[in-house]
Amino acid sequence: MESLVDGYLRHIMDEVRGDRSGDVADYIPELAVVDPEGFGLSLCVHDGYMYSHGHSTETFTIQSVSKPLTYAMALRKHGVAAVDARIGVEPSGEAFNEISVDDRRRPKNPMINAGAIFAASMLLPASRDVSRDDVDAAFAEIVEFYSGCAGRRLTMDEEVYASESATGSRNRAIAYMLDSFGAFDTDPDAAIDLYYRQCSIRVTTDDLAGIGATIANGGLNPRTGRVVFSSEIAQRLLSVMTTCGMYDGAGDWVTSVGLPAKSGVGGGILAVLPGQLGIGVYSPRLDEHGNSVRGVETCRHLSKDLGLHMFNVT
Ligand code: GLN
Repeated sequence: MESLVDGYLRHIMDEVRGDRSGDVADYIPELAVVDPEGFGLSLCVHDGYMYSHGHSTETFTIQSVSKPLTYAMALRKHGVAAVDARIGVEPSGEAFNEISVDDRRRPKNPMINAGAIFAASMLLPASRDVSRDDVDAAFAEIVEFYSGCAGRRLTMDEEVYASESATGSRNRAIAYMLDSFGAFDTDPDAAIDLYYRQCSIRVTTDDLAGIGATIANGGLNPRTGRVVFSSEIAQRLLSVMTTCGMYDGAGDWVTSVGLPAKSGVGGGILAVLPGQLGIGVYSPRLDEHGNSVRGVETCRHLSKDLGLHMFNVT
């Protein structure tokens, strides 16, 4: 028999499914061909139990939901102080693909493209002479780390990667602008390549919920029992996800949903209730901020009905 929770999740999806507003991302040509009706929802609770509904095992590209994970890797490799010296933690209030830098010419935060490309660059050798093997090695570490967070082996979508590489002038412009400030220790083209690869990693809503539960548990994946990162890093991720994770929709999101979260233009949203659970939701039609319309709506319902808002005082 269906559990109460499963019945409730099914009910929410039925409520939200009728909303066909928004559009799939088309600035990356390969993203425009996805089925706009795809809709999945997964919840992973702190003991690792997974509730999965709809297209919860269908893959889509992680896109910007990758940003907190690569940021975590940069923090792990260089330490908080060294990363803070290069990437800020202030919300930009601007679109994800703005060239947002502060008065020290640091990217404003790691959740927008400028900061995320920079975080990826910190995983490469500190040399302008970076080989393809170096990028391959850094990407292998990324896949290893993301897989550890998700609790299963993840792979890359070659078509989406090729499509974004072929059309991604905007991100190249961001990287070159940062380079003109002397920001990089490494080759900006290699940083962009690594960033495009990380964005093309395929995930399911089960994976996002598992990653969310790992962050919720302070870096311990509750499904595998493996510690993937420290609780200090988890706290940092939750902080920047709260203030910057939903881009220029962050204020509305925190007010109405009240959960640290990260969205991606592939249609995924990962939300976390610290200490409790991870939520993964997928639906590819996006609002004007680049956040999944049904994803945001689903999280609103969950938060309201289950009292998940982190500032819930009732
Ligand atoms: N790969 C995408 C880009 O850089 C990710 C953006 C996003 O998901 N918001 O444009």
